[in-house]
Amino acid sequence: MKEYDVVIIGGGSAGLAATIELYNNGIRNILLIERDYELGGILLQCIHNGFGLKVFKEELTGPEYAERFVEQLLELGVEFKLESVVTTIHPDKRIEYINTKEGIVTIQAKAIILTMGCYERNSGAISIPGNRPSGVLTAGTAQKYLNIDGYLVGKKVFILGSGDIGLIMARRMTLEGAEVLGVAEILPYSGGLKRNIVQCLDDYNIPLYLSHTVSEIIGDKSLEKVIVSEVKDFKIVPGTEREFEVDTLLLSIGLIPENDLSERAGIILDNKTRGPIVDENYQTNVDGIFACGNVLHVHDLVDFVTEESRRCGKSVSNYINTNFIESNEVTIMKACNGVSYIVPQKIHYENLNDKLELFLRVKSEFKDVELVVKGDGEIIKTNKKRHMAPAEMEKVILYKKELLPYKEITIEVVSWAKN
Ligand SMILES: Cc1cc2nc3c(=O)[nH]c(=O)nc-3n(C[C@H](O)[C@H](O)[C@H](O)COP(=O)(O)OP(=O)(O)OC[C@H]3O[C@@H](n4cnc5c(N)ncnc54)[C@H](O)[C@@H]3O)c2cc1C
Repeated sequence: MKEYDVVIIGGGSAGLAATIELYNNGIRNILLIERDYELGGILLQCIHNGFGLKVFKEELTGPEYAERFVEQLLELGVEFKLESVVTTIHPDKRIEYINTKEGIVTIQAKAIILTMGCYERNSGAISIPGNRPSGVLTAGTAQKYLNIDGYLVGKKVFILGSGDIGLIMARRMTLEGAEVLGVAEILPYSGGLKRNIVQCLDDYNIPLYLSHTVSEIIGDKSLEKVIVSEVKDFKIVPGTEREFEVDTLLLSIGLIPENDLSERAGIILDNKTRGPIVDENYQTNVDGIFACGNVLHVHDLVDFVTEESRRCGKSVSNYINTNFIESNEVTIMKACNGVSYIVPQKIHYENLNDKLELFLRVKSEFKDVELVVKGDGEIIKTNKKRHMAPAEMEKVILYKKELLPYKEITIEVVSWAKN
């Protein structure tokens, strides 16, 4: 059985950045496994610009951003396999993958980095009454058909969910000559970044129906109409139904980290993020298995994925070089009032470098509030925020000197008025 120091599963932006970081930290016996026929992951179908403002101080398209990392990887001569699907991860870090050239192969790793990204919630995940005709598909699938395969999936389109992929597809379909009749969002605020609402909807006069949903799908073999209704307290308001004649309904109703493999390896997932519970080194509960990127928690910006994956790559190189301080003193991160989740979910104080970067999302839209960080009940830090929304990931930096070895660190949203 072939042995590697580190095997990275998934060659998207997370896998690429983590692999390069490992190499730059002296780890050479590495294998990157990707199931697609090229490296780059979801970036390859994102032909709009807006990637890399932080990492490269430039506005790149998704494929351009990916290319920079793929070129580096090729220059370094790191081993990678394409069109190879990892089917099993064992807790003892044996990995099984399959491809058409080698068949089923088992390899042994000292450490594994999970970078499998996420998948889209589909129509099976929501129960809209009516038939299931052709013409109902996820926004990401439509994006792949259009941007990679060159097929326009429809001419009259309605979009359910105002997540970033849906917003970007509203503009993309319009530019390709389709008519986008509207975007319905069940919540009273959008699930996408503000800049995408302006650049993808407002600039093209595409209406955004907040507190609305698709209440019925009509069509036999192909989609003919959708009925859109107002929603109050997650219930349809009778008498508010509007009919839209469309041939395509795109669903942009959320992304879910792809963790089937992780769960089967005994990795414990966070109920909120649906990704593994990790510590400050991005290590899961299974010794030597680490996770970063969208498989850990859904990111809105690729730059954050890259930065996180570099930190993860560095941690794994410390693990391999046995520079890893094991510690049983665990501080638990607890998301309180208004905060949906925090990553990492636990930390080992002794293992921290000078600072700790925490990432979180809030549960709903907030204006003029503070993020209050407490250690065992006493305030450590407050960050004033004019505006926060679930679509935008928040970062909180804590310095080691601020973090006595507390047992519990809580983060909550507090209105300015209360202080
Ligand atoms: C539509 C869309 C628009 C976006 N727009 C922007 C933007 O404008 N600006 C910005 O900064 N960010 C944007 N993002 C966010 C950013 O691009 C992503 O968060 C980031 O690229 C995710 O990287 P990842 O490596 O974690 O996941 P992915 O890119 O999804 O990579 C995961 C890889 O793992 C592989 N894989 C999965 N399972 C297996 C397996 N079992 N075996 C082998 N390989 C496997 C997959 O094939 C895939 O290549 C956008 C994202 C989307 C989806």
